[in-house]
Amino acid sequence: MFYVERNFMKFNDVGRSFSFVQMGVEMYIVLLGAPGSGKGTVGKIIAEDLKLAHISTGDLFRENLKNETELGKEAKKYMDKGELVPDEVTIKMLKSRLEENDVENGAVLDGFPRTEVQAKSLDEMLNGMGAKVDMALNIDVPFDEIVERIANRRSCKGCSEIYNVVFNPPKQEGICDKCGGELYQREDQKPEVVENRLKVYSKSAQELINHYENAGILYDAKAGDSVGKTSYDVAKEVEEYIKSK
Ligand code: AMP
Repeated sequence: MFYVERNFMKFNDVGRSFSFVQMGVEMYIVLLGAPGSGKGTVGKIIAEDLKLAHISTGDLFRENLKNETELGKEAKKYMDKGELVPDEVTIKMLKSRLEENDVENGAVLDGFPRTEVQAKSLDEMLNGMGAKVDMALNIDVPFDEIVERIANRRSCKGCSEIYNVVFNPPKQEGICDKCGGELYQREDQKPEVVENRLKVYSKSAQELINHYENAGILYDAKAGDSVGKTSYDVAKEVEEYIKSK
């Protein structure tokens, strides 16, 4: 069951663009939603099933951080406080990622855009590639649920796999099932930083929703325990919707 709260006619327009995808043309899906809303999980499932690249700007920054690049050092100043990395830096990074070979069929963008400036520049970048954003999926999870979720989250230092110590714990405490790496709580998963990330998110969320609603490609999905839908449910429902068009 979808939770479509906005203009249904516009929604049909979203559907029309999907039919091109099934003929083998590129598709770009943007994921909106607060940190901890499950964007990453939903994005990975959809990208894998639809053979699209999964691009997470958060992961790209963390990779740079791990490799101690100049970009990583610059980004860390903002990430540790839950602030957004400046648009200019983020846009440049995303642009070069979009030029990589695996993006030939399109991509699921997880965590980009986060500001209206980024949204407009994404439109321009894709336009320059003869493509466009086909769908903006807004994953809506109540904030109190998100705060609890992030507090229980642990990430693997080795492969970045994410666990929830209550709902999805590793077989052996503190150790990644996949690669044996050490699990830790990221700096930006600590309660005070989470609070700031949610504030930062709220500030620009409405602008982004308006941007894609005006383009007629916004898709709303309510998720979380309170509506009995996991990230997996959201991903599968969105895929069903896309395939039905
Ligand atoms: P995420 O894993 O998507 O929550 O991203 C982690 C952190 O990376 C964010 O809190 C920001 O500091 C930074 N970041 C990720 N994506 C962006 C973006 N599109 N614009 C600015 N900063 C970003």
